[in-house]
Amino acid sequence: MYRFDESINVVKGVGPTLAKDLNKKDIFTILDLLLRLPFRYEDRSQMVTIDQLEIGELATFRAHVISISTSYRGRRVMARATLQDTTGKVTAFWFNNRYIGSQLKKGSEWYFSGKLNEKRTITQATVEKISNETIHTGRLVPLYSVIGEHMKIGTFRRIVKEITDRLDDPTQSLDTLLNENKENLPEKTLSLSKSLRTLHFPENTEDVPAARERLALEELLSLIQHSHKIKAEWKDKHSSFPIKLPDENTKDFESWLPDKLPFSLTQAQDRSTHELLEDLQNDIPMNRLLIGDVGSGKTVVVGIGCFAAVELNKKNAVIVAPTQILAQQHIKSLEKLFPSLSIQLLTTKETKKFTVNKKPTLYVGTHAVLNKLEEIDPVFIAYDEQHRFGVKQRSVPLMSHGTPHIMTLSATPIPRSLMLTLFSHLSLSVIDKMPPGRIPTKSWLIKDSKKQDSLAWITKTLQETKGQALIVCPFIEPSSQETLSAVAAAKDLFKSTKKYYAKNAPEFKVGLLHGKLPAKEKQQVIKEIFDHSIDILVTTPVVEVGVDLPKANIIVIEAAERFGLASLHQLRGRVGRAGQESFCLLFSNSSAPETKNRLKIFTQETNGLKLAEKDLSNRGAGDLFGFQQHGFDSLRFASWTNIELIKSAHTFFQQLKDTTWKPLFVFSRKEQTPTNN
Ligand code: ADP
Ligand code: MG
Repeated sequence: MYRFDESINVVKGVGPTLAKDLNKKDIFTILDLLLRLPFRYEDRSQMVTIDQLEIGELATFRAHVISISTSYRGRRVMARATLQDTTGKVTAFWFNNRYIGSQLKKGSEWYFSGKLNEKRTITQATVEKISNETIHTGRLVPLYSVIGEHMKIGTFRRIVKEITDRLDDPTQSLDTLLNENKENLPEKTLSLSKSLRTLHFPENTEDVPAARERLALEELLSLIQHSHKIKAEWKDKHSSFPIKLPDENTKDFESWLPDKLPFSLTQAQDRSTHELLEDLQNDIPMNRLLIGDVGSGKTVVVGIGCFAAVELNKKNAVIVAPTQILAQQHIKSLEKLFPSLSIQLLTTKETKKFTVNKKPTLYVGTHAVLNKLEEIDPVFIAYDEQHRFGVKQRSVPLMSHGTPHIMTLSATPIPRSLMLTLFSHLSLSVIDKMPPGRIPTKSWLIKDSKKQDSLAWITKTLQETKGQALIVCPFIEPSSQETLSAVAAAKDLFKSTKKYYAKNAPEFKVGLLHGKLPAKEKQQVIKEIFDHSIDILVTTPVVEVGVDLPKANIIVIEAAERFGLASLHQLRGRVGRAGQESFCLLFSNSSAPETKNRLKIFTQETNGLKLAEKDLSNRGAGDLFGFQQHGFDSLRFASWTNIELIKSAHTFFQQLKDTTWKPLFVFSRKEQTPTNN
């Protein structure tokens, strides 16, 4: 019997060369191997006699070799055989197979799988020796994509069969539990070994989904366990600076802010701030996610936390923004909200000659600020993640004050049930209501042929509203980095736009912004956007990330089909920020129905959370609303959208956690989790 954690070297038929080959493909244990599932099954199960063979139909038959010959044409080798059973004869050919000629001895009997062609012959048939249980013929046959240098698909298949036939099932306790809880589970829940056997060698394809579901359950249980482990370690190993508040007042915090906020907080902001302040008072470091749609007002919440750390406790705090523009903008809005707070910009440029302020300070910067954490020694760090901020730079060194309290800001809505079960190590605050007085942005999907009309409409609208327009050129590649081709596209678009307006509305100034502009020029453009000397800004998707341009009321998105819904939603969030009427024009020439449908949905729904739900039901888990950006994409079998299964996994976990059960999968991801390395 084989155990999951055993090395593949113990498998019968795996010698050193093969083992090396498998190792190269990251396959070390029996489990590693079993988790390489077939990408599809080929149905060779139809058993026929030679007279029943039909042109184009894949079938298996049993026949004798009555003649076999091999010929060479140049370096190419061809084998030709005549095969016979009691009902007739058929001719078979193999090309470039030097072994088949000597394997198929005259008079020997085999199974053959293949398709009869128009000439009523068969080429490249799969050959297998006669036995009660075939592997490569006469059944649903798994096709794999992991084949190594010295390994043919047949060899891999044989090894998998050898293992699945002799598999020890280690998760006994889970299986017992599953048997006892049949009513909580989907009807056909299988044992683990049976599931793996089915996934590799199904008797029929209807069995496959249930088997996959079983692996999904294992995976979810492993993830839940991982999350619990992080939480436990977090509490044990880390301590932080407990922030003191006047009279421990976390509810009526506006009473201790020296300057009145320029607006009254929404109930959701109020609640989130209260939750944040509660956590900050603890000596267990906070690990909290603040979720709120674009424009929902997350900045002020974080700002109050920073104020408490810096002004009330005389410690440093840090806000990390995904871009320089965003960092600058945060400073602008925070200075307005908290005039007495000492704030300093810290991007790559400033880190070069950095010395820490004597005065307690809030440092706001790009990820460059993370290299200065030891000097800054913050007690509170906020990551403004929006939705596209890498998770790699998350390691946080241990400060003299212990682990800093951490808050991550995100515009990606994550279903609450997911958070509570799979990410229980994170606390969650949600801003689910927009500040009052926001008018939903009117959105239209427009064919490229209507472009000229739209430009005229933009001219008229800008003249009437004294607003600002953003024209975003296509996302060239789905990467968070701005690529050279994206810059090239922006330059082209800038030229044509400038030309158009020089002719049709020369009073408008057209500007260009992209990440490859020299720093000085970039600063100048940013300044001109903010002081409104630029009326129309052509840009790469850099503006996507959180820029607050109060005058902007029109956004045009070129080749909208290249953007995901999450990105589109972020972009649309750039306009109407001051409560004015605003417009979003999606240009697209795509005629693919799914694409059109997706963009149509976008024009009809302005609520980010609802949009995410629709995206989810439309597209399933795969690339759900920017979810991957959170590092949450590493599920191989389960789906984020299968809420039912997640719930039953949660129930099982409660019963399993104190037993001898061990998770099948090992998760090493540490997203949202500062470490000491
Ligand atoms: P985001 O959640 O996208 O980071 P911001 O914090 O940038 O949103 O807020 C968006 C805009 O809404 C800002 O201009 C901010 O001043 C304003 N704002 C935030 N909260 C309120 C509120 N309660 N009432 C009115 N305006 C608000
Ligand atoms: Mg923001």
